[in-house]
Amino acid sequence: MDKTGSAHINGGRLWDSIQELGRIGTDPNGGVTRLSLSNEELIARQFIIRLMEDAGLAVRQDEAGNLIGRLEGERQGEGAIATGSHIDTVIHAGLFDGALGVLGGIEALRTIKEQGIKHDSPLEVICFTDEEGVRFGAGYLGSRAMAGAWKRNWLELADSAGTTLREAMKYADLNPHQAARARRSRDAVKAYVELHIEQGRVLEELGEAVGIASAIYGHCWLEVSIRGRADHAGTTPMKLRQDPLAAAAAALLAIEQIAIQQGGVATIGTLNLAPGAINVIPGEVVFTIDMRHEASEPLRQMELAITAALERSAEARGLTTSIRAIDGAQPVQASKRIVEAIASSCASVGLTDTYMVCGAGHDAVAMNELTDIGLILIRSRDGISHHPLEWSSPDDCEAGANVLLNTLIRLANDRSN
Ligand SMILES: [Zn+2]
Repeated sequence: MDKTGSAHINGGRLWDSIQELGRIGTDPNGGVTRLSLSNEELIARQFIIRLMEDAGLAVRQDEAGNLIGRLEGERQGEGAIATGSHIDTVIHAGLFDGALGVLGGIEALRTIKEQGIKHDSPLEVICFTDEEGVRFGAGYLGSRAMAGAWKRNWLELADSAGTTLREAMKYADLNPHQAARARRSRDAVKAYVELHIEQGRVLEELGEAVGIASAIYGHCWLEVSIRGRADHAGTTPMKLRQDPLAAAAAALLAIEQIAIQQGGVATIGTLNLAPGAINVIPGEVVFTIDMRHEASEPLRQMELAITAALERSAEARGLTTSIRAIDGAQPVQASKRIVEAIASSCASVGLTDTYMVCGAGHDAVAMNELTDIGLILIRSRDGISHHPLEWSSPDDCEAGANVLLNTLIRLANDRSN
């Protein structure tokens, strides 16, 4: 602790651990590929276990394969203040997504142990199983298991080589039928704070190293089909056409305005025309809409307004529309007391408190079902993520880990709950 009462991690040691973990699963085609429960990720887990042990933590693996490093507090029987993230990656990933949260958490707990910093509640750093969902098509497996939302039918999900999650868990010496036992109670985990790279450009634009998430976007995914009539591009006069792409184009511009008005975001990420030839008027347009908002009611209003705009636009041209919901999740609000603890910690290490909405999903979303959550974000260069060029500077990683460290200490000594 320094004169101001704030604690500091060892930035060089954190940076070295990020580099060392990044050498496990180096992909010959660029970046790092450590798919969940792959050989590479299993080697990385051994590295994490070693690091946790070196930090003086009691290490255990739960039934869902989550690695938990724990430092007991001064008061017996208290729920833990937990931090963590994941070390599985997408294909051709960078060094920071997930890794920063796990390694920053270990570094924070190591600092507390080394410096003998007093804390009432026990502290935990958790390395969750399969956050990315790339290998088996379902993500947050470990954090959802811990929050009591494990689904048995996930075991039948298979990767591109046909290996099921059941087989992959057995390969990793886990009993697939016991995964649901990873569930913990609210009394056992009093708070969860995650440190993560932003994966966007907001902090870089603001010139800030660290941001505090006030909420995490909820989302609504739709698949839309507008059907018209495929005709010859030369012989069909404009007034005789039933062109679904023209209807879609009008709707897409309306969708942009609706997102702006509601203060959310909406994206048309895929669009397919059938039959799809240069000299044929399309007979059908199929596209997806990804809409996100930090609050439930505006998210619902966005969905209603967008659905109405699509139907209006198609009807005006005598076309038929079908809209199918593909996926959705409610927004997550960060806990007020954790946001306050993060803000005080920012101040104590000389950073401004910059509030933002987190646009990407994290283990914190799943942990919100179990306990109060908070999220500390750090600046990503050029907003690049899920790519070998993903980058956060050593100074920013250190700043984020310092905020995490002081937040954990604050929460672990908070008697008000
Ligand atoms: Zn991540």
